[in-house]
Amino acid sequence: MTGKADYMKLLILALAVAGISMFHYFTPLHASYLHDIFQRLYYIPIILSALWFGLRGGLLCSVIVSIVYAPHILYQWGGDFSMETEKYLEILLFNIVGGLTGFLSQLEKERTAELKKTAEGLETSYRKLKAQSERIMAIEEQLRRAEKLSTMVELAAVLAHEVRNPLASIRGTAEILRDDYPADNPKHEFIDIQIRETERLNRVVSEFLQMVRPRPSDMQLCNVMEELETIAALLTNDARNHHVEIVLEPSGKTVSIIADNEKLRQAFLNIILNALQAAPAGSSVSIAADASDSGWLKISFHDNGPGIDPGNADRLFVPFFTTKQEGTGLGLSITKKIIESHNGTIAIESLKGNGTTVIIRLPV
Ligand code: ADP
Ligand code: MG
Repeated sequence: MTGKADYMKLLILALAVAGISMFHYFTPLHASYLHDIFQRLYYIPIILSALWFGLRGGLLCSVIVSIVYAPHILYQWGGDFSMETEKYLEILLFNIVGGLTGFLSQLEKERTAELKKTAEGLETSYRKLKAQSERIMAIEEQLRRAEKLSTMVELAAVLAHEVRNPLASIRGTAEILRDDYPADNPKHEFIDIQIRETERLNRVVSEFLQMVRPRPSDMQLCNVMEELETIAALLTNDARNHHVEIVLEPSGKTVSIIADNEKLRQAFLNIILNALQAAPAGSSVSIAADASDSGWLKISFHDNGPGIDPGNADRLFVPFFTTKQEGTGLGLSITKKIIESHNGTIAIESLKGNGTTVIIRLPV
């Protein structure tokens, strides 16, 4: 590529060669000491050209100088070889100097370019290394945090276990005490409360244990409709107590997915329990599976309950969030964890007063 600077250099060289040649041709021959000086002045453009444009530049300039200088020897000095040997030798020397300087300067330029390339390579490797080490540091930090968390989870699990044993004794002794008071005695009522609250605590602890100590998952082919039927059958009694019917809508085809069926059942159970608790007596809870969306299985659970207050919508999956007197607030957070561990999604659609639909999507 020839830039503006290069044209400037070419112009300087051309002017120098032309200027020196003019001196040669217009200076009378008897001023031979001046000619000796002019002759050597040619080296300046030759060396400059060699430095600027390498081997080709040096040679080209020396050849041009030779061509412009030759007629001066041949016609003005007579061109006698034995008389003007020194001038012919000078021409030879022009070319040697042009070629050699050009060669050396080109070598130098190539080396500089190579060094620059190496430096750039080093720079990119350095940047890559730096980015990599930053990533490693971030991962290490994450691991350390995860480790801290897992010891905390372990501690929590131990604590939960420790709480359960005394709870069992409190409940047992309360039941014995209750027998001492007839049902119309106000203390009977207090002991009832005591038993109910210990039951609730026990439930919190059990569900909490389930959450913090997940079993290693056991993935296998499982028929989702069958699992839903199992849960529906398991909950017949609860449904009857609430005077609610569980309706499992038939799905056209059998849908099987790779999943941990025990965990899936747990998730379905939590959702259906919530629906049963919300549904008014005499209504029904409907469950439908739909595999028409390619790649996804959609399961919806609908109840005609009071719906969810919009203000609570983003707290539903937060552990311990509950609006129920006897609730633990762990059901949905466990369910979400299970569904997400199956790469699925869970969404809750609800209009206050218009019932609630929980929609699970699982990859097929
Ligand atoms: P819990 O059932 O112990 O309260 P969950 O995590 O299962 O805990 O549910 C959290 C809260 O979400 C419930 O207390 C309730 O306010 C709301 N919720 C869940 N499912 C329904 C539903 N089908 N209808 C109305 N509210 C619901
Ligand atoms: Mg619940």
